[in-house]
Amino acid sequence: MSDAPRRVVTDTMIGMSMADSERWSERVGVVLGQNPGPFTGPGTNTYVIGTGSRRVLLDTGQGVDAYTDLLERALSETPGLDGIEEILITHAHPDHIGGVESILERFGSMRVSKKPRTEMDRGLELSEIDEGAEISTAGATLQALWTPGHAIDHLCFYMPEERALFTGDMVLGAGTTVIPRDGDLGDYMASLRRLMELDVDVIYPAHGPKITEPRAKIESYIQHRELRDRQILGALEGGPAKVERIVDEIYTDVPEAFHAAAAVSVEAHLRRFEKGGRVVKEGETWRRA
Ligand SMILES: [Zn+2]
Repeated sequence: MSDAPRRVVTDTMIGMSMADSERWSERVGVVLGQNPGPFTGPGTNTYVIGTGSRRVLLDTGQGVDAYTDLLERALSETPGLDGIEEILITHAHPDHIGGVESILERFGSMRVSKKPRTEMDRGLELSEIDEGAEISTAGATLQALWTPGHAIDHLCFYMPEERALFTGDMVLGAGTTVIPRDGDLGDYMASLRRLMELDVDVIYPAHGPKITEPRAKIESYIQHRELRDRQILGALEGGPAKVERIVDEIYTDVPEAFHAAAAVSVEAHLRRFEKGGRVVKEGETWRRA
């Protein structure tokens, strides 16, 4: 075991910094949400999409005042750009939907489109979209793909003009994504495999830099999870164990400060094994079935 690779994905967003505002292509500008942290890396990427005088904003950060100011400045510094015509949200996690109210307050009312998840949608009046929806603005078309797993309401958006995929939290610019307790790893793997089938030249993720080798990145995400599967089943071979013990055994290369996050990930794998009848939970202890 000691010679086996400990991990597939070796890059990380820890300590990464990015420009506050940048143009990534003719039709894609990125503005950082000003919410850096252990789960958000340099912060949430919010995207200003299109080539016309009014554009689509994809995701809104967390509701940080400095972000709304930054967005306003970025818009005013782009020649010929007049404002935002519509807000699109990938999913209802607070670092994506949390800025909607302040943006509406600053820029006036406009359509806010997302796949509904009522209990997390902050009471916002939404234009409900789902798989197959198409959002058009001058210079860009965004096609919604329902990609549950990280979150049940998660949408990715494909933009055929650049063969680009906005992946939200499905695929990140560095490191791997978290499958939270209300997520589903089985759904997540199915969603990753679905993304592999698309003709994609570039990924614009919700955190971290753009990805110019999409297939290799998605493939590494799948392999990462498959390695974790093997490591977790391997850890249970020695007998029943609590999640903390499994984490200590597998995440030997990760600082203790990140073990709580690692536990969330291990639990996601265990829950999927439990569904498939491969492991059993007794109290706080997991064992092979
Ligand atoms: Zn998320």
